[in-house]
Amino acid sequence: MYKHILLATDLTEDTEYVIEKVRELRSLTHAKLSIIHVVEPLPGYSYAYLGIEDIEGQLIDEAKQSIEKLGQRLNVGASDLFVEIGPTKTKILKIADDVNADLIVCGSHGRHGLSLLLGSTANAILHGAKCDVLTVRLPESTD
Ligand code: AMP
Repeated sequence: MYKHILLATDLTEDTEYVIEKVRELRSLTHAKLSIIHVVEPLPGYSYAYLGIEDIEGQLIDEAKQSIEKLGQRLNVGASDLFVEIGPTKTKILKIADDVNADLIVCGSHGRHGLSLLLGSTANAILHGAKCDVLTVRLPESTD
């Protein structure tokens, strides 16, 4: 059975739905759990005119705080929490390799994905992963 699950999260409310599946999977398999969130680099111009000096730094700080809270809820230690900067799919696949994950869990689409289609991240993970991938079908958005 699975020994190391990597949860890829966009840290939106949709994560709640995926978390329940991960909890159940974990209690069935007793697998180790790692969690990853990727911050995509922003185009290299200044946002100072918006009064924001270091928007990328702020996004990274917020992501770190959110993933730490998630880690506490799921009993995952700091060394198994990853906030990476770069292209989302590449980073998820790299960390999956690095930690030797045998299952990647992600949502079927992100916050803005079309509910009936597989999101581009989920698609890329499915096509690029060397291990099994569980795409959790998210409830249709009410937005
Ligand atoms: P998307 O392809 O953007 O519609 O997202 C599909 C799924 O990929 C989400 O439900 C998450 O599980 C995962 N995902 C999307 N964006 C990220 C991100 N920035 N970091 C980690 N996982 C992500």
